[in-house]
Amino acid sequence: MPKSKVTEEFGSKVFNDTVMQERLPKPTYKELSRVIHEGKPLDLDIANEVAHAMKEWALELGATHFTHWFQPLTGITSEKHDSFITPKSDGTVLMSFSGKELVQGEPDASSFPSGGLRATFEARGYTAWDPTSPAFVKDEVLCIPTAFISYTGEALDKKTPLLRSMVALDTQAKRVLNLFGKSPKHVSTTIGPEQEYFLIKEEDYAARPDLIHCGRTLFGCEPVKGQELEEHYFGAIRPTVNEYMKELDDELWKLGVPAKTKHNEVAPCQHELAPIFEEGAVAIDNNLITMEMMKLVASRHGLVCLQHEKPFEYVNGSGKHNNWSIVADGKNLLDPSDAPEENLQFLVFLTCVIAAVDTHADLLRASVASAGNDHRLGANEAPPAIISIFLGDDLNQVVESLIEKTAYSSQEREIMDLGVPQLADITRDTTDRNRTSPFAFTGNKFEFRMCGSQQNLADPNLVLNTAVAEQLEEFANTMSPIDESDFVPAAMRWVRHTLRDHQRIIFNGDGYSDEWPLEAERRGLPNLHDTPTAIKTMLDPANIEFYAKYGVLSEAELHARYISKAEQYAKLIHIEANTMSYMTRHMYIPALVDYSGEIAAGVSAKADLGLTARAERNLLVKLTDGIDEISDAVEELEKLNTEAHDLEDPTDQDDAYATKVLPAMAHLRSAVDRMELICSHDFWPVPSYNKILFYV
Ligand code: ADP
Ligand code: MG
Repeated sequence: MPKSKVTEEFGSKVFNDTVMQERLPKPTYKELSRVIHEGKPLDLDIANEVAHAMKEWALELGATHFTHWFQPLTGITSEKHDSFITPKSDGTVLMSFSGKELVQGEPDASSFPSGGLRATFEARGYTAWDPTSPAFVKDEVLCIPTAFISYTGEALDKKTPLLRSMVALDTQAKRVLNLFGKSPKHVSTTIGPEQEYFLIKEEDYAARPDLIHCGRTLFGCEPVKGQELEEHYFGAIRPTVNEYMKELDDELWKLGVPAKTKHNEVAPCQHELAPIFEEGAVAIDNNLITMEMMKLVASRHGLVCLQHEKPFEYVNGSGKHNNWSIVADGKNLLDPSDAPEENLQFLVFLTCVIAAVDTHADLLRASVASAGNDHRLGANEAPPAIISIFLGDDLNQVVESLIEKTAYSSQEREIMDLGVPQLADITRDTTDRNRTSPFAFTGNKFEFRMCGSQQNLADPNLVLNTAVAEQLEEFANTMSPIDESDFVPAAMRWVRHTLRDHQRIIFNGDGYSDEWPLEAERRGLPNLHDTPTAIKTMLDPANIEFYAKYGVLSEAELHARYISKAEQYAKLIHIEANTMSYMTRHMYIPALVDYSGEIAAGVSAKADLGLTARAERNLLVKLTDGIDEISDAVEELEKLNTEAHDLEDPTDQDDAYATKVLPAMAHLRSAVDRMELICSHDFWPVPSYNKILFYV
């Protein structure tokens, strides 16, 4: 795209505010704005007018179809395309689109995971327009962001509970801001998701069943060179990738995604794209669009975009940083300002986040748990599986002084004075670059770094929003009966006490160190090391009550989500084990038999000539022993995989996959990888890490 055209093309395929303003009658536009920005309920007459304008606009962009674009529990987006055509009696067609079609759709819900919800309630699913996220045209299809719910109202998707959590946050934050004499129209969150990904050549991808079926390599010996030279991070971008990135930017900009930063990441072939932050649900939708476009654009460049959390052993995996803040009518509430009167408010919101993360560390951990992410968390390339908060030196000092004062002083004035001058400098604090912390304050926002690269960010954000809403409610309830004249000292007292109660979650040290897990255990912080362990906490009675209280997830919905996550984990590992078995039997063993056979023939021919061929004999022994070991290992894996698969209960299945199947997979992999080290290149049936990771 010629760069002069960027401003013109940006958002040209989005039914955004400008388009609405241009195309909707004034009263309709005003009413819709209230729905979007103030959470007012949606009127059907308005929907009819919006539908008409949307269709006319989409037709001009060449759209022939529309779809309700939604986010089922699979984690990816789903769409079913319906054309706009309506036949007329004279044999011609009209292009039509009604308010009803805009507002509600009825996809066949039976083929989406529901964690048993539909079976329980005998309910079909429907999609409902989410007017807070703009519609867009993608490849001749008008895409309408929607929520996906059962007829009895249970959430069947990732978006519905996210939107509910934003209502909870909005309600409680407004109560708190009212206490500070403010009455904002809308409190929301902002999210800036940094997306990591790998790009490899299509020919290498196509030659590896593990990449095709599992999105990651299940075998592969260590490449001769990895990331040890540290030259890839921010390094010059290779021309093929540069062309890809340019086209990706163009496509994203047209779709209104504010793609901002692109660079090479730590591992060879690894890259990152970061957009400018946006309102919470919109940012998540745009992240999903970004992931989809990343894959699509790669296919036009002979490349494949891998979004799995651990495509390759021996080099870093991919994550997604969830930069997050709270905003009231556009004002960032986690931005420490220079104005002293704002500082108490900042401290209250900060304290609520700290208390929220400590109280619900288990749910936050569970929200990012997946078979893929288990390869990263705690593996010295990503934050450990223990949730803690990094505040940076300045803010930490403020918090510590506040807590220490508690012991001997009740003079609130003094404490205020203590906090005020330091707060003004916090945005300039550059010591926040602690990459080992899972949840870091970075000047005016928090960055949650545990999320997996392929995950839908709705999951962690709904935990965060609800957990913070709970603390805000706690503050508002404590303050409500208090006289206005006592508000400041009482609020300071609440801040101090709450910080003291939750200080254990604050950790400014090295999260990768061996001491940290021990220290964390002493502090009583949960260390939920893998997915089965983490997701079980979703069913704790306190957690069921927590979600239900804020109307974010009912007990049935939460249970369904647990079942769906547990099943997903078991299914993914089952597929991985199947793929390993397939590759071993159909590719590796035959290749090793052929290669060793050729050596055996050579050894025997040489023996006839009176030559001992010592090295070849040794190699032959190693290869033959290797084939035996691989053969035993694959049989053992197949047995354990079948046993795990045959278990009825998803929790039992997960435990079996984690404790039995995964170690058997590791054993088989190591047996095969050792043979890759000594097998001839000509015989090895798949491209090696050396080739995949270092293309030109
Ligand atoms: P890093 O050092 O981790 O690469 P950056 O400074 O590049 O971080 O910013 C990362 C992301 O944080 C960007 O997407 C940016 O838009 C986002 N961000 C900045 N401010 C906010 C905010 N107030 N709320 C949410 N995200 C934000
Ligand atoms: Mg970051």
